[in-house]
Amino acid sequence: MEILGIRIPTVIHDIDSVRCEGCHEAISGQPMRVSILDVVATEAPPSWATASPINPGPHQFHPDAAHVRAWMRRAGYLFCRKSAVREIMRPVPILIGDTAWGLCDGAHRDDHEFVPA
Ligand SMILES: [Zn+2]
Ligand SMILES: [Zn+2]
Repeated sequence: MEILGIRIPTVIHDIDSVRCEGCHEAISGQPMRVSILDVVATEAPPSWATASPINPGPHQFHPDAAHVRAWMRRAGYLFCRKSAVREIMRPVPILIGDTAWGLCDGAHRDDHEFVPA
């Protein structure tokens, strides 16, 4: 491309090199993709959504739940121990001191039990 007569080299993104958001190492083979549901789609009031720092993803990891949990831990998310790491996680606002977010797969009907990821 050219802007004001100056040639701008096109930035080439290496799409083959996908990095795990858990350990930051390259992923060879099929990455595990985890998306976080749009908060607006849950019962959470809109004020939560606007304050939400949640990046819905999809986030990509090595196909190992430990790498996903490492990312959750670093991002400050709690993890519901009644759930499992799945492709779609639901964010749940937790009101303990500062607002925190817990992630749950939403597969159980009783109360969440959030623990450090
Ligand atoms: Zn990894
Ligand atoms: Zn739960």
